[in-house]
Amino acid sequence: MILRIDNLVKHYGPVRAVDGLSLEIGQGEVLGLVGESGSGKSTVGKCVLRLTEPTSGSIELNGTDITHLSRRAMRPLRRDVHMVFQDPFSSLNPRFSIEQIVGEPLLRHKVCDRRETAGRVAAMLEKVGLRQEMRKRYPHELSGGQRQRVGLARALILEPKLVVADEPVSALDVSVQASVLNLITDLQRDMGFSCLFITHDLSVVEFLADRIAVMYLGRIVESGPTAEIFAQPRHPYTQALLSAAPVADPVRQRERRRIVLGGDVPSPVDPPAGCRFHTRCPLAYDECRSTEPALTDPRGAGHPAACHLVTADRVPDAAAPL
Ligand code: SF4
Ligand code: MG
Repeated sequence: MILRIDNLVKHYGPVRAVDGLSLEIGQGEVLGLVGESGSGKSTVGKCVLRLTEPTSGSIELNGTDITHLSRRAMRPLRRDVHMVFQDPFSSLNPRFSIEQIVGEPLLRHKVCDRRETAGRVAAMLEKVGLRQEMRKRYPHELSGGQRQRVGLARALILEPKLVVADEPVSALDVSVQASVLNLITDLQRDMGFSCLFITHDLSVVEFLADRIAVMYLGRIVESGPTAEIFAQPRHPYTQALLSAAPVADPVRQRERRRIVLGGDVPSPVDPPAGCRFHTRCPLAYDECRSTEPALTDPRGAGHPAACHLVTADRVPDAAAPL
């Protein structure tokens, strides 16, 4: 396992951003972590990079428990895990040239001297589809798509084992989203890094992720192989998210029944008792209001969901409430 998160909790004062979350990512595997804004998914990414200290639980990176490592002890491990941010502009130092930005991790970790760094930067820029003359440019001279390519080049130059990508295409124009997603897919296949891909948009990870985990109010409500999540979503929340995602195929679009969720996501300061989703679930019944469902995988098929109906081995259908 490259990443193993066990029962992670992160509270910011009264805000229960992450509230008992476990997940694993294997070698070369891409996990899509999907949830609405406020679900806690970005906080998971920040904990993995130790940009914030977990409240409890544990995080293992490539066999090392990093949950409470000091900054100094964490430093050598920073070679193995890199982050790609949503807004490439705010994450790139405006005073540095592209060459300096992409080469900086090599120099910081003393991987090679300046001459070799220049060669590696040139090769990396080619990999992410940027022309060599970009080396002398500055972030403000680049388009959004070019800046995200620079962000990828910087994240990948140390050949990390794990890349945490937090909404890497959502700040980009729709017209360039697909090309950047294709690039990430190609780079992942070519370099073989594992990836925690965080997104609010299920359709973004359909062709990239091997597995998907769906988050709601700080917890995972369903996870499984991507094809299965799309073909047979079990949790009513996943069913609703999928019903709202665009599909390219007009037949599938026509067959699909739209599930409209009532109300807003409740506050993570005071999550609902019982099933956290019960205030919006079209299938909620008495038990849902009092008892919290555990993640269960009744058929042992690696596709667990946290819903009383699933535990009872029934198939929830949020599009057909009783
Ligand atoms: Fe809906 Fe109840 Fe299942 Fe929660 S446990 S998802 S409220 S049916
Ligand atoms: Mg976020």
